[in-house]
Amino acid sequence: MPLWKIQASAPVQEARPVLFLDRDGVVNADRHYLSDPQQVEILPGVVEAMIKARKSGYWLVGVSNQSGLGRGRFTLDDFQAVMTELDRQLQRHGVSFDAFFYCPHAPSDDCSCRKPLPGMLQETSEHLTWTSAGSWVIGDKKSDVSLGRDAGLGGVLVLTGYGESQRLLVEESWPEDPMVKIVPDLSAAVDWILSLKTEEQT
Ligand SMILES: [Mg+2]
Ligand SMILES: [Zn+2]
Repeated sequence: MPLWKIQASAPVQEARPVLFLDRDGVVNADRHYLSDPQQVEILPGVVEAMIKARKSGYWLVGVSNQSGLGRGRFTLDDFQAVMTELDRQLQRHGVSFDAFFYCPHAPSDDCSCRKPLPGMLQETSEHLTWTSAGSWVIGDKKSDVSLGRDAGLGGVLVLTGYGESQRLLVEESWPEDPMVKIVPDLSAAVDWILSLKTEEQT
């Protein structure tokens, strides 16, 4: 499974919960097959939310379907350039992903890593020690929520990417499901997850 980066500084033996973050429409503005580094725009509140989660003891792991690679819409060099720019912008604000996995396949490739299949979660275990308790997948599509829910973590839908159409799909699929939450954006997702943690402790 392709791994874009793992932080050299990560103390790999320390078990922590993970926030698995989808990329497009969650961390950066969705540009539909984003392939130009100049189009990388981090969404409002994302840096602060990532810093807050990191301080609260979560690994930050990117999990991104990049079927544009498998479909020939852009090259691996384009993808690398986008990731380098995204990372540069995040690091400038003092935060970064602990690891970042991507699925380079087209749907017709029948791979095991394309969300909602759990390949990228399994791969995470090869690189980081993490606990499923307290871990969530956060994304802007039903497939992100499905990944988290089916893996027994939980899924949070944010509305900063695909928006309403996915909200309806998620509501329809899992009404009143405690492992599914819908919030406006990543900032609200992190605040909600941290509020659960506080509830558990009190
Ligand atoms: Mg997305
Ligand atoms: Zn794949």
